[in-house]
Amino acid sequence: MRKAMYYTNEGEKIKCLLCPRECLLSEGQKGFCRSREVINGSFVATAYGKTTSLALDPIEKKPLYHFHPGSMIVSLGPNSCNLTCKFCQNWEISQQDCPTRYLAIEDLIEIIKNQQDQKVAFTYTEPLMWYEYILDFAAKAPEIDIVLVTNAYINKEPWSNMMQYVKAVNIDIKSFRDDFYRNICGGTLEVVLSNIIIAKEMGVHLELTNLLIPGYNNSDEELTNLSQFIASVDKNIPLHLSAYYPCYKMTVRPTTREEVEHACEIASKYLTYVYAGNVYSSRYSRS
Ligand code: SF4
Repeated sequence: MRKAMYYTNEGEKIKCLLCPRECLLSEGQKGFCRSREVINGSFVATAYGKTTSLALDPIEKKPLYHFHPGSMIVSLGPNSCNLTCKFCQNWEISQQDCPTRYLAIEDLIEIIKNQQDQKVAFTYTEPLMWYEYILDFAAKAPEIDIVLVTNAYINKEPWSNMMQYVKAVNIDIKSFRDDFYRNICGGTLEVVLSNIIIAKEMGVHLELTNLLIPGYNNSDEELTNLSQFIASVDKNIPLHLSAYYPCYKMTVRPTTREEVEHACEIASKYLTYVYAGNVYSSRYSRS
């Protein structure tokens, strides 16, 4: 059992400091993310290495368009998330317990070494809930490039530490409004914005994704604010604006191609690389 990182003892309880939720846990209790638990007085990373999926994907599927385009990447992720997005497109493996298989780091390295491209993506759900597994992987295989597809909802110190070992990251920014984060995702915006800046400053290849939900996060004003923020960090950060489909607890109609293209038009006023996702657009899809 791998001991969890980033916590303090608070009397008989343990306070997790990995993400802003800072769960205060008693003996036998799991954190909100279901990936960390107090067992016999120790704080244990119980999701360690237990994967819901293992696949070889085109890197564009992450999506990453400006990091080794045309390559394939071994992809896997935990049965865990620390947000509760009502529209989660992967809720069956992120928001509820599902079958997993333990994959030892040595076995994962062996799988990657047998591929043409020496890269791995921790993705599908929330890879930061595998914090210790990813760091242990990085220590054992520093020659393999690590990619994260993440919500970046994690405290500053563990995020900065993790970014030392990551080559590329796609951050899923859910909205540019804090009330959306609080009401729809169970999180907060500021920490995500701060972590975007940190990743950029630390030289990690960075791309961003925003899932457009009609009437919820796709107003002209919000898209303008989001694009201006990204441009203030670096106007060359690629932004993927993707169509949403009804999923999990969200029943709003799907985003239309016209709405995605309109969002792309707005973002393109401020950013160099804007791409449509989940719909085909002759102007904004990657050919
Ligand atoms: S990582 Fe999990 S246990 Fe730790 S504070 Fe966040 S939700 Fe709670």
